[in-house]
Amino acid sequence: MSEEKITSPMQTADDQLRSVLEDILKHGLKTEIEPRAYSHEQIYEIVFRLQTLTKEDYKNKLVFAGFTITPYNPGDNVDEDQACETCMYYLVHRRFCELPELMLPVNEGWSCRLWRI
Ligand code: SF4
Repeated sequence: MSEEKITSPMQTADDQLRSVLEDILKHGLKTEIEPRAYSHEQIYEIVFRLQTLTKEDYKNKLVFAGFTITPYNPGDNVDEDQACETCMYYLVHRRFCELPELMLPVNEGWSCRLWRI
């Protein structure tokens, strides 16, 4: 007997939206990758702009937060990769960003400029 994978409605919705977001990013959406948000002021400025968006304004969330589908790296050192999988806002089992202003399904290898360790 084959084992059937049970998928919850939330997983299905996450998977669908993740795929839509990936498509948007792969099709050349220009996002604000830099400057990175290292200071409190920079973080506040980006978060403030994200707070002006509606929950479903996915494109502008991607733009303002500076999403990329590969890890951002400020230098040549692989250890310095800024990827969702090492970010404090990343929920591993759900593959989800729980930063309140984003709340989006993501992939472990994506990145944004609000990355925090
Ligand atoms: S805040 Fe962290 S988990 Fe969320 S998208 Fe940015 S890098 Fe990924």
